Amino acid sequence: MRHLIIGNGAAGNAAAHAIRRRDPSSEITIVSDEPHAAYYRPLLPYLLHDAPEGRHLFRDSLHLPRDVTVQLGARVQAVVPDEGRIDLDDGRVLAYDRLLIATGASPSLPPIDGVPGPGSFVLRTLDDAVTLKASMAAAGPSSRAVIVGGGRIGTKVALGLRHLGMAVTIVEMLQWIVPQQLDAAAAEIFQEALQSQGIEMIFGRTVRAVRRQDGRVRGVILDDGLELAADLVVMATGVRPNAEIARTAGLATRRGILVNRFLQTSHPHIYAAGDVVETTDIVTGEPIVSGTWTNAVFMGEVAGENMAGGSREYPGAWGLLNAVELAGIPVISAGLVHPPLEGYDVRMRRRERAYRKLVFRGGTLVGFILVGEVEGAGVYTAIIRERVDISPWKEALVEKSTCAPFVRTLRRFPEVYAA
Ligand SMILES: Cc1cc2nc3c(=O)[nH]c(=O)nc-3n(C[C@H](O)[C@H](O)[C@H](O)COP(=O)(O)OP(=O)(O)OC[C@H]3O[C@@H](n4cnc5c(N)ncnc54)[C@H](O)[C@@H]3O)c2cc1C
Repeated sequence: MRHLIIGNGAAGNAAAHAIRRRDPSSEITIVSDEPHAAYYRPLLPYLLHDAPEGRHLFRDSLHLPRDVTVQLGARVQAVVPDEGRIDLDDGRVLAYDRLLIATGASPSLPPIDGVPGPGSFVLRTLDDAVTLKASMAAAGPSSRAVIVGGGRIGTKVALGLRHLGMAVTIVEMLQWIVPQQLDAAAAEIFQEALQSQGIEMIFGRTVRAVRRQDGRVRGVILDDGLELAADLVVMATGVRPNAEIARTAGLATRRGILVNRFLQTSHPHIYAAGDVVETTDIVTGEPIVSGTWTNAVFMGEVAGENMAGGSREYPGAWGLLNAVELAGIPVISAGLVHPPLEGYDVRMRRRERAYRKLVFRGGTLVGFILVGEVEGAGVYTAIIRERVDISPWKEALVEKSTCAPFVRTLRRFPEVYAA
C-alpha cells in the first residue's frame, strides 16, 4: 500500500506516525513545499526575539520514523483522484493508493491598499519568521511596528517586537484583544500587562492603507483617517484553508475540505486533516474550520489510522480549545465562551490577575475561560466533551477550581485531548 501525505505540519506528521503504528511495512511519503523538517508552528513568534522557547521548535515528537520518505521543497500542483496520482511543480508525478491532504492554512489578508508589499509581513512559516526577523534587525530597535489584528498571533508578535525595543501598536477591529478566545474582562488582564510593557492598542478600528515613501513603509492609515507612523507592518488577520488543490480536483469543499466522520473526503481514497478541513464544532454542532495544533494532531491521527485500514471516528473539533501564555499569564479557553444572552447561565469571578468564567446550558458545562489559575482545565474539557450532567455539583464547580468530585463521572478521564 502506498500512502502519500501532502503537508508536513501537525496533521501530516501525526498521520505518518499513526499509519506506521498500524502498518509497519507500507510505503509512506510526505511531500512538503517548505524546505524544513516538521516544526512546532506556535513557537514561531518566540524566534523573533530569540526567546528560550524557540529552542523547542523542532520537537522530538515531530521526528518521523526513519522509513518515511520526505520530499521537502516540493509543491503539489494537482491531485488527480481517478488516476491516483499527484503532480509536483518540478514535473515529477507520484502515485498513491491512499492520499492525505493536510495542507493547512495561509494568512488571509483583508483588502488594504499597499498590502502585500515591501515592509508588510505575515507569520505562518519558519521562512516568514526568518524574513521578519531580518527586517526587524535592518529597521533597528528604535523603529515602529504596527500589528494589524490583535488575536493570538498578533499579540504574541507584538510582545516579541516590543521585547527588542521597538515601538509597537496593535490595531484590532473588535473591542478587545484575542476576541475569539477572551471576553472583555479576561482581555482586560492581558491589556493591562501589554500596556505595562509599553504596547499601545487601538480598538474598534480597521486599517485602510499602508503608506510608503521611496519604497519604504512610513505609516498606516486607519479607517477614520488617523495615520500611525510605522516602519513595518505585520498582518495578523486570520487564516484561510489551503483547499485549492482539493477544489480543483473536484473534491467537495466549502470554506475547507468536507469530510465524513472517518475524515474521508468525497473521494474514498483521499482523506483530509488539520486546518484545511471544515468539520463540526464538538460543542455547538456548527460547521467550523479549526485553527489549533491539538485539533490538527488529533485529526491526523484519526485519518492516518483509517488510511491504514482502521475505522476510527472523529467526533468533531473544538471550535475553541486553546492554551497559551501571553505576557507571562496562562490562559485556557474551550467551548462556547461568548454565549447568546438567552438560555445560558454564565458565572464569572475575577481576582487580581486571575479570572474564571464558566458557561452552563442547563445542567451541562459548555464553555470556560481560565486566566492566571488554569488548574482543572483538562477536567472541565472532559466534562464538556462528555456532556456530563453536573447539576448536583454546579455551585461547587463555580465556587472552587478543584474538580475532584466530578472526575469519577467521566468515562475517559484522564485521556483528555486538551493541549
Ligand atoms: C504564529 C503562530 C502561532 C500559533 N499559535 C498557536 C497556539 O498557541 N495554539 C494552537 O493550538 N495553535 C496555534 N497555531 C496554529 C497551529 O500552528 C495550526 O493549527 C497547525 O499548525 C495546523 O496544522 P496543519 O498540519 O493542519 O497545517 P500546517 O501546520 O500549516 O501544515 C501544512 C503544511 O502543508 C504545506 N503545504 C500547503 N500546500 C502545499 C502544497 N500544495 N504542496 C506541498 N505542501 C503544501 C504547508 O506549507 C505546510 O508546511 C499557531 C500558528 C501560527 C502560525
